[in-house]
Amino acid sequence: MQLGKKIAATVVVLLAAAAFGFAGGGSESGSGVGVEAIQKAGVLKVGVKSDVPRFGLMNTATNQYEGMEIELSKLIAKEILGDAGKVAFTPVTAKTRGPLLDTGELDLVIATFTITEERKLTYNFSTKYYTDAVGMLVKKASGISGLKDCDGKTIGVAQSATSRKAIQEAADKLGIKIGFSEFATYPEIKAALDSGRVNVFSVDKSILNGYLDDTSVILPDAFSPQEYGVVSKLDNKALAAYINGLIEKWLGDGTLDGLIKRFGL
Ligand code: GLU
Repeated sequence: MQLGKKIAATVVVLLAAAAFGFAGGGSESGSGVGVEAIQKAGVLKVGVKSDVPRFGLMNTATNQYEGMEIELSKLIAKEILGDAGKVAFTPVTAKTRGPLLDTGELDLVIATFTITEERKLTYNFSTKYYTDAVGMLVKKASGISGLKDCDGKTIGVAQSATSRKAIQEAADKLGIKIGFSEFATYPEIKAALDSGRVNVFSVDKSILNGYLDDTSVILPDAFSPQEYGVVSKLDNKALAAYINGLIEKWLGDGTLDGLIKRFGL
């Protein structure tokens, strides 16, 4: 009896392992993921920013996306499909980029997506291809010259972004009290700054650059390094490993450095 039970238990474990192995490793077998699935589709679907100058920006004059993340997407398409033009770009925000990967509408997100330990539990991140920092945009007339002047002030941040945590940690270190207002999009935060509903617009400096105008200034303060990675759906390990190989290669051979220089980053 004991032996019979043991054998039965072993069979269950083996079956479970086989099922898990199939689900986890079946990415190249036509299950809709992996590099082969993209080759089959004939197009690489990438989520990019449309409002971040030099990273991902929709040029309304030419109706074309431009920036280093756009060029990176094209390089990946060239590797996978042999044609840098075979990319379908979708504009994303901090809030929409994850769900669009989850539903399979996107193969990759290359959109100022900061690598964090928490996010690695839900998505695959490549090695970092760029490092930015969280900054602050204020009205020139506000008299605010740094976070130290923000006691009692309200900071506008985007939902699902790393900014709130970064600014809160910095404020705690300074021993000041701040409040937050969260918005779905960056244009909404800029409008809130302009109308005085928030005192500060905070997010990565690269993103703030897209909202700088004659009435505002980006302060010298810089918080929490923001390391950007190429992101894929968590169960698509085959694609993630392939993309990581490309990023490592391009970090080593100067390709990424070239892109960073080309866009003045
Ligand atoms: N890079 C930051 C993040 O991933 C800011 C949000 C954004 O990229 O829009 O949370």
